[in-house]
Amino acid sequence: MGGTLLVSLDFELFWGMLDVCSLDAYQENVLGGRKAIPRLLELFEKYGIHATWATVGFLFAENFEELSAFFPCKEKLPAYENQKLTPYDWFSRIGGDEECAPCFFGPSLIRMVAETPGQEIGSHTFSHYYCREKGQTVEQFRADMEAAKKIAADHGYDVTSVILPRNQCEPEYTRVFRELGFTAYRDEENDWIHEKIHFRPLLRLLRLADVYLPLTGFGGYAPKKEDGIWNLVGSRMYKPILMPLKFLEGWKLRRIKGQMLHAAKHGLTFHLWWHPHNIGVMTDAHLQQLEEIFSYYLELKEKYGMESLNMKEAAQRLENGENNG
Ligand SMILES: [Zn+2]
Repeated sequence: MGGTLLVSLDFELFWGMLDVCSLDAYQENVLGGRKAIPRLLELFEKYGIHATWATVGFLFAENFEELSAFFPCKEKLPAYENQKLTPYDWFSRIGGDEECAPCFFGPSLIRMVAETPGQEIGSHTFSHYYCREKGQTVEQFRADMEAAKKIAADHGYDVTSVILPRNQCEPEYTRVFRELGFTAYRDEENDWIHEKIHFRPLLRLLRLADVYLPLTGFGGYAPKKEDGIWNLVGSRMYKPILMPLKFLEGWKLRRIKGQMLHAAKHGLTFHLWWHPHNIGVMTDAHLQQLEEIFSYYLELKEKYGMESLNMKEAAQRLENGENNG
């Protein structure tokens, strides 16, 4: 078999950046990311790319009034020690719907995604929940995931794939979303850099180098069911163009294509992911790179029979394979 290309997007608007930078500093990326979505969907359709859009639950709501009806009760809100991470505090500062607060609400975008062939609406938790933060508990996480499932269902989506913010997967938490009926999630790749290097500056440097050079190998794998749920590990993040290292962009694309070719030749899964806001600035250049990747996928499909699936489709395929085999 010619391998599988999985594509997933962490669809969060500004909710994933609350503790990283100010809204002023980043809103150009978020608003640009909104504008990039219809163009990205056009490319997905043109090249037959199926993708999972792991969506923050807050984004589904038409307005704050609707959203607040899904909020867990007060004791079950995430009690992070780091106050910067508390998303519920933001509602008093922002507008109450998509028109007034386009960096925080996104129902029109979700509809646009869902109407495009091959696109799956998944979950990125309800409130962009951090499973490894001090102060929060697994019960609070359960309430968050229940709310995520409910608001999506209320809009007509049965979400079964989940991507945890910052890939903070812990077995106790994985069990919760399995119990809630999720069938697949995306864990982080456990390569030697993550395993062996604990000195942060060196870790960051090696991870950066790995974007351009094959330090961690090819990232292709055969998916495994862990504790009753398919772990569709992320193989590579599509990194936005880094201006000081712009001369290395050709290497970045060559690295991704090499990983795809390896998966296609060996019948493995290669999982590429990013955030829409990563391509919210320099959108033309980013879409051009992505188009090059998608067009290479078509070559691999022709030559080796590689297939593009979203996470839900991949989980169904694996489940059927397991039942038949
Ligand atoms: Zn996120």
